[in-house]
Amino acid sequence: MHSKTLILGAGLTGLSTAYHLEQRGDTDYLLLEREPEPGGLCASQHRSGFTFDYGGHLLHLHTAYGKKLVKKLLKGNLSRLARQAWIYTGNARVPYPFQANLFALPAQQRQACVDGLLKAAARPARPPKNFEQWCLQAFGRPVYELFMRPYNTKLWGVSPDKLTCDWCGPFVPIPTQQEILQSAQKPPRRQYGYNCYFYYPQQGGCGALVQALARGLKGLKTRMRITRVDLQNKTVRAGGKTISYDRLVNTLPLPAFLRLLKGQPRLTALADQLAYTSVNVYNLALKKPLKLFSWIYFPDQEDPFYRVGLQSGFSPANAPRGTSSIYIEVPAALPRTARTEKRIWKALVQKGIIEEHDEVLFSFWQPLPYAYAVYDRRRSRAVRQALAALAKRGCFCAGRYGKWEYSFMESSLLEGLALAEKLV
Ligand SMILES: Cc1cc2nc3c(=O)[nH]c(=O)nc-3n(C[C@H](O)[C@H](O)[C@H](O)COP(=O)(O)OP(=O)(O)OC[C@H]3O[C@@H](n4cnc5c(N)ncnc54)[C@H](O)[C@@H]3O)c2cc1C
Repeated sequence: MHSKTLILGAGLTGLSTAYHLEQRGDTDYLLLEREPEPGGLCASQHRSGFTFDYGGHLLHLHTAYGKKLVKKLLKGNLSRLARQAWIYTGNARVPYPFQANLFALPAQQRQACVDGLLKAAARPARPPKNFEQWCLQAFGRPVYELFMRPYNTKLWGVSPDKLTCDWCGPFVPIPTQQEILQSAQKPPRRQYGYNCYFYYPQQGGCGALVQALARGLKGLKTRMRITRVDLQNKTVRAGGKTISYDRLVNTLPLPAFLRLLKGQPRLTALADQLAYTSVNVYNLALKKPLKLFSWIYFPDQEDPFYRVGLQSGFSPANAPRGTSSIYIEVPAALPRTARTEKRIWKALVQKGIIEEHDEVLFSFWQPLPYAYAVYDRRRSRAVRQALAALAKRGCFCAGRYGKWEYSFMESSLLEGLALAEKLV
């Protein structure tokens, strides 16, 4: 078997690359996926009338092309929703983002946050060496200790002083100091963050998008697990077959891909420098409707999860009438056991999301082995070296996991377009 372009992984990035190649009249490609269905993390699961995504998967579309493409693919099967997100810490329910809603804190904490910010503002600004320093400069110590430190430690699995600040630009809203101080008096007028509005399919969950992209793709081959990549001879071993190619597109998680390389010990060794966190998503189908919210962040140590979202709130089609569904994102350091489930239940009740005697229709775990590429000190150099060496050998990496970065779905769609343009 031979194909001019061989694309590894049919998640959103691989699908977008294949789709845009075909749109440009290039059908000499193969798109290989190990699972029976394409979609990767953007697929959805359908069980007993419920639709679950892999954790929250909401479309943040900020470019004209991203919006146009999604609208074209989904043909009207799309809603635009307003974010309803909070941070639950102690007994406080603070609207998101924390740093722009200090009014919702108890008086003592609120005053401490104001004093901490004024103190930080009085210090001369220096280029921050890590995410901790970045937060302390931007928000002051109390906001850091109440939210930024505990939440980010749960999410990234390391404390913020071990993280660089390369990733935070698009993801951490930065109100001005004036705005933060004003937020101690009253709710802000402004909306903050890349996700204050988002899009979501009316039917079929996030998976509706990947299905629309995959429909009719001529080169898509599922149940093809890639087990070896030989960059020198330009061949890939997948599903028991050897396939040769002229150029390769990788969307598999970069460390996993580097470990598949034949005879490239220096490149393969870089995999050890690419840290990541895994997440276990615990899904609950409940026999009662819940009050509407989008998602809630949980920084407190005693809560075993870091984020909970209302899957049934994104579309009425996600759950049968009179029921609801939630996804609970749990750091993978906690085992997927009945004991953890009990802890989750207790915390959900304590935080007022569900009630002790609510009836569960069913529950299940979705382990996500590769969830977040950790932006520690080693990441940037190792990624740069790996991507440059691979490109020299005719292999282009794309997507959140292929490029080992923190990005969202729109980037996958756009990178697929950019790659197709480059390859054609
Ligand atoms: C918990 C969580 C929540 C998220 N929420 C959002 C959100 O709300 N909005 C948003 O925009 N983005 C969100 N994202 C990011 C989003 O999931 C990614 O940007 C997107 O899925 C990246 O797509 P991809 O195709 O690059 O990777 P993937 O979806 O990982 O696709 C890679 C594909 O490669 C296949 N593969 C792997 N190994 C092999 C092998 N050996 N052989 C063959 N095939 C293989 C996999 O099966 C998969 O299909 C979230 C991510 C996580 C982890």
